[in-house]
Amino acid sequence: MKLLSYWLDTAKPAGDFRRNELPARADVVVVGAGLTGLSTAVHLARRGAQVALLDAHTVGWGASGRNGGMATTGLAISFATGVQRYGERPATAMFRAYNDAIDTLEELVRTEGIDCSFERTGKLTLAAKPSHYRAFEESAELMRTMAGQDVRLVPPSRLRDEIGSPYYHGGMVDPLGAAVHVGRLTAGLAGSAAANGVSIHEECRVVELVRRGEHAHDVRTELGTVRADQVVVGTSGYTGNLTPWLQRRIVPIGSFIVVTEPLSPAVVDELLPNRRVASDSKHLTYYFRITPDNRLLFGGRARFALSNQDSDRKSGRILQRAMREVFPQLAGTRIDYCWGGLVDMSLDQMVHAGERDGVFYSVGYSGHGVQMATHMGKVLAQVLAGEPAANPWRDLKFRAMPGHFGPPWFLPPAGVLFKFLDRVS
Ligand SMILES: Cc1cc2nc3c(=O)[nH]c(=O)nc-3n(C[C@H](O)[C@H](O)[C@H](O)COP(=O)(O)OP(=O)(O)OC[C@H]3O[C@@H](n4cnc5c(N)ncnc54)[C@H](O)[C@@H]3O)c2cc1C
Repeated sequence: MKLLSYWLDTAKPAGDFRRNELPARADVVVVGAGLTGLSTAVHLARRGAQVALLDAHTVGWGASGRNGGMATTGLAISFATGVQRYGERPATAMFRAYNDAIDTLEELVRTEGIDCSFERTGKLTLAAKPSHYRAFEESAELMRTMAGQDVRLVPPSRLRDEIGSPYYHGGMVDPLGAAVHVGRLTAGLAGSAAANGVSIHEECRVVELVRRGEHAHDVRTELGTVRADQVVVGTSGYTGNLTPWLQRRIVPIGSFIVVTEPLSPAVVDELLPNRRVASDSKHLTYYFRITPDNRLLFGGRARFALSNQDSDRKSGRILQRAMREVFPQLAGTRIDYCWGGLVDMSLDQMVHAGERDGVFYSVGYSGHGVQMATHMGKVLAQVLAGEPAANPWRDLKFRAMPGHFGPPWFLPPAGVLFKFLDRVS
């Protein structure tokens, strides 16, 4: 079993960007070469801006190269909760932003010619308890009437049409959800960025942002300093003390994934006949899909721990047991890959994008960043160019996690709480 991301292992990097010489200046410095940073860089470079894209590691090393590759519709919270919290109109605008985000991703892949198996498979949400299916019925009604979303309920009696599992109690299908190979996506975006003149620098940690004007900064890195007219930070769950204000507002939570050996077409037809991207209704969600080469990818918050090789291995064992509970057919199936990564949760589980101390940022995708990080790159490029941009997150209050100043000490108690909520909900 390999302890690394299947996506990164099965994608060819666009190049080796570790030894590029840093430019003395740039119109824009983007910190973080995940989907937020890559998409921002591509969209800015297309407008003729001189962009330097800096990452402490390599392209796609963060959550963008480690996720489930599921570009799903809908908010990280339920639509009903969104309406309750923000009112019908704002909640609907935020909800629809996810449809726009998948469109942005699809368009970017098409216009840049990125071969990353993007496919509108549809999204399948599964009820872990009968009461959750009843909540789906209410939610589907709200989504149809308020947001005009074409969601379809799958009652327990028809669930076999969607999934070969005894574990669930009904489902809901949204045909707009999509699957993508995120290793080939991040590599493809890096290739497009480089072709459009972006100067990419891997293994180039930014250590300080020294403000020189309203938006201008000296960006100090381990390899030298770049003077920039504007700075964008897209560091997501890996946000550190470079931006302490953001760090206190992002809770990094480990999420873990296992990937099986390739399965026969007959077994895939049995597990997920429509190849949809799927997740369930628990607080400690399981999510799964079929990869382009017919493996099952199965993920979840197996443990409330940060990701490292030891932690990933333990989580892999827990997830393998969970996978067999959901799909007993896989009792003898080998696991080929196991890895973990950090999800950038915000306290309200909403995206937060704006400007602080002259620095632009977009973070807090809360497990829904594949499409939204890509989309926010386009939105940030519009904001930096001074154009009107549809940023539905702009006016949201961005609260700090009380007592959070560095490593997230509160993860184990949070894990106990979520397990309890799953038992009683
Ligand atoms: C296991 C897992 C499964 C997930 N599954 C899904 C899914 O199926 N669907 C979905 O929509 N979302 C999913 N997500 C969430 C999604 O992957 C993220 O929201 C998204 O990738 C965030 O992209 P990003 O570019 O903002 O950040 P990242 O991809 O995390 O990139 C941040 C980058 O910033 C760099 N960095 C940090 N500090 C510095 C510094 N000081 N100097 C230079 N560089 C720095 C890091 O090296 C890193 O490369 C998942 C996340 C995880 C971890």
